[in-house]
Amino acid sequence: MAARILDGKAIAAKVRGEVAQGVARFLEANGRPPGLDVVLVGEDPASQVYVRNKEKAANEVGMRSRVHRLAATATAGEILALIHALNQDDLLDGFLVQLPLPKGLPETEILDAVSPDKDVDGLHPVNAGLLALGRAKLASATPRGVMRLLAECGADLAGKRVVVIGRSNIVGKPVAQLLLAEHATVTIAHSRTRDLADVCRQSDVVIAAVGKAGLVRGDWIKAGAVVIDVGTTRNEQGKLVGDVAFAEVSERASWITPVPGGVGPMTIACLLENALLAAKARVDSSSPNLAGRC
Ligand code: NAP
Repeated sequence: MAARILDGKAIAAKVRGEVAQGVARFLEANGRPPGLDVVLVGEDPASQVYVRNKEKAANEVGMRSRVHRLAATATAGEILALIHALNQDDLLDGFLVQLPLPKGLPETEILDAVSPDKDVDGLHPVNAGLLALGRAKLASATPRGVMRLLAECGADLAGKRVVVIGRSNIVGKPVAQLLLAEHATVTIAHSRTRDLADVCRQSDVVIAAVGKAGLVRGDWIKAGAVVIDVGTTRNEQGKLVGDVAFAEVSERASWITPVPGGVGPMTIACLLENALLAAKARVDSSSPNLAGRC
């Protein structure tokens, strides 16, 4: 039986609607909208598109959003000075530094300079640590989007075997932590994993976050598994494709995300929600843990 499509576009629209309502309530209570800024260094064409989309989406839900553009020749000192100013800006609730940074810049030092309270990408060691301890405040948007997709298709994760393929700090590791918090039995696979096909065949949920087109084949998938494709690469025709061989895998899975139109739209929607959560937490220090509520 063909898998059902987990429609990230439609679910992201629902999340944005929820965020817009939250923004309206925040504005009424605080006399100002939540603020979400982006720091963009250099001219990377893909980053320019992402940042434009983020700014547009933030404005559409009623947030205040600004993009701080710095030349590719900006020094670490200039970027750090901007980050310190944004950390101090009382009307700004969250911001992120768009990655990748131009080569030669100290990425770790720059990301670590973002105040953990405003770290809507969830990349600061404090936020990564809280996530690992099961006390997350801000978790990275793509993993939260993955969790919301799983919730929307009714996947019961408790006790299930889940494989996360990829161990990056922005996707693989945080999504594994969020899955663990939902009581899944989580395997994190990576480029050194042996018998990846076998690991996948034993899994009720497969989450692919690699960046290798068509890596996950149909015969790797247990019948009825849920398959979430985070990967995005451009094929020779310039078309955006995922890590999952969609047609083959659709024959075996119960649910599958398309690329495009799966995880991608969820990332921006969950980023907006992170900004709203950060704003609420800043005005209400008794705000509960934030992760998992995207
Ligand atoms: P990354 O930092 O390059 O990490 C890729 C991971 O894949 C690494 O852990 C790597 O293992 C692993 N890997 C590489 N080849 C493998 C193989 N043959 N078998 C198993 N694992 C393998 O990438 P990322 O930032 O996590 O992003 C992953 C993908 O998701 C990319 O395509 C990216 O464009 C996409 N993405 C999409 C969204 C969205 O919103 N849709 C958001 C973020 C990322 P090692 O650690 O051993 O090297």
